[in-house]
Amino acid sequence: MSNSKVRVRFAPSPTGPLHMGGVRTALYNYLFAKKHGGDFILRIEDTDQTRYVQGAEDYIVDALNWCGIPPDEGMSVGGDFGPYRQSERKPMYREYADMLVESGHAYYAFDTSEELEEMRERLKKAGVPSPQYNAVTRSSMKNSLSLSAEEVQKRLEAGDPYVIRIRMPRNEEVKFEDKIRGWVSFNTNNMDDKVLFKGDGMPTYHLANIVDDHLMQITHVIRGEEWLPSAPLHVLLYKYLGWEAPEFAHLPLILKPDGNGKLSKRDGDRLGFPVFPTEWKNPEGEISSGYREQGYYPEAFINMLAFLGWNPGTQQEIFSLDELVEAFTLERVGKSGAKYDFEKTKWYNQQYLRAYSNEELGAQLQVLLKENSITVTDNIAAKVSGLMKERATFVKDILEDGMYFFVAPTEYDEKTVNKKWKENTPEHLGSFRKNIAEIGDFTAENVEKAFKATLEQYEIGFGQLGPALRLALSGKPAGPSLFEISEILGKEETLTRIDKALEVLA
Ligand code: GLU
Repeated sequence: MSNSKVRVRFAPSPTGPLHMGGVRTALYNYLFAKKHGGDFILRIEDTDQTRYVQGAEDYIVDALNWCGIPPDEGMSVGGDFGPYRQSERKPMYREYADMLVESGHAYYAFDTSEELEEMRERLKKAGVPSPQYNAVTRSSMKNSLSLSAEEVQKRLEAGDPYVIRIRMPRNEEVKFEDKIRGWVSFNTNNMDDKVLFKGDGMPTYHLANIVDDHLMQITHVIRGEEWLPSAPLHVLLYKYLGWEAPEFAHLPLILKPDGNGKLSKRDGDRLGFPVFPTEWKNPEGEISSGYREQGYYPEAFINMLAFLGWNPGTQQEIFSLDELVEAFTLERVGKSGAKYDFEKTKWYNQQYLRAYSNEELGAQLQVLLKENSITVTDNIAAKVSGLMKERATFVKDILEDGMYFFVAPTEYDEKTVNKKWKENTPEHLGSFRKNIAEIGDFTAENVEKAFKATLEQYEIGFGQLGPALRLALSGKPAGPSLFEISEILGKEETLTRIDKALEVLA
């Protein structure tokens, strides 16, 4: 497929919301497609109707849009290779199952679920730990390889329920070169006669997946490691259908932050972080938190995800989506699992937050201020953002930690009051108040001058006045420059707050 246009697909099953690992798979597909000027396709794999979850498909589309990695083709945007939902492609699969039966690579199996269960029980008793329908056991089952041609014909005509299974060959090595893992090899003795086509007229994942990848001209299959054991079956199906197989790249797992094993929703609940990009409400109305709703920037989330399994080989950690497209290669995706690090995710958000100009952050803050019915000028919102951004992870932190910029404190931090509000504090603070009342141009610089003058006047240090002034202005033990806070509050408000503190704490 070396000369054809790169076409990759993200092929989730709509069985629930998209886990972070799924988003990363989508991201790597997106980056690979864009890097090579190719197409990124979203295909919904809903052949298993019993596992269909209402709302999951819309969730997936919405989450990819939020992440800024929308598909070029898919049911939400259209394209020349549709339909993009497997249930709508139902009539397309049967002919390929039939082709495989005709060429002897697949067969009809009529076994009832009781008969299958009986076979498993029997083999377990005989000491087989995981019994399979395979080259050894198929001869004792009811299928078109074990029954006479007449019997098979009779059953088909009578409309007996059946499935179509692959006829897995005995003792063959199936090899392919995975873009991440290198050469991998499987022996067919360890593979079973998987069902390709079901009694309900639907293909299984395996058949639908390769038929669609072929018909949609997919050049590279980039997916999670959990699909690696299915890959040899897929390679055989391509061969039996006479089609060229796409390239394969199986991505390493995302691991729990503490210990081994795949990151699960339970880990997120246990350790207090979302595992979904956006909030998910299941059909029962139960809500699971998402990064979007917690205030993460999609750019930060994506940047973090890109590094879970890939690295650029340099020290650079902050990458815009365009830069990721530029730098991404499958060769630099690691073979081993990547531990999820929630602190690092927050760090990424901080970096993105700090990179915004004060004006841009101010505009983001204004949205939250309006939600809280607080009216301030854009200039004030920008100044507050500038002062608070070094301490914030999210824009909401600026609002929460800097609420005193907009609303006068009603409480004063008790510990600081006990430690720092001394007998002579009212005198010092009162004198400072007098000094600043005379300032004509109420700038941070002039307030600072007045503050220093007060310190000199009483021969005291910063610690004897600063914390008290901070209490008066913000009620808090710590925060940004007192002089900047004063300038933002303005002269009148600064004086009022000092008066109030003198009254309450006197
Ligand atoms: N439908 C499969 C899933 O849910 C797709 C696996 C693949 O990409 O082949 O992940």
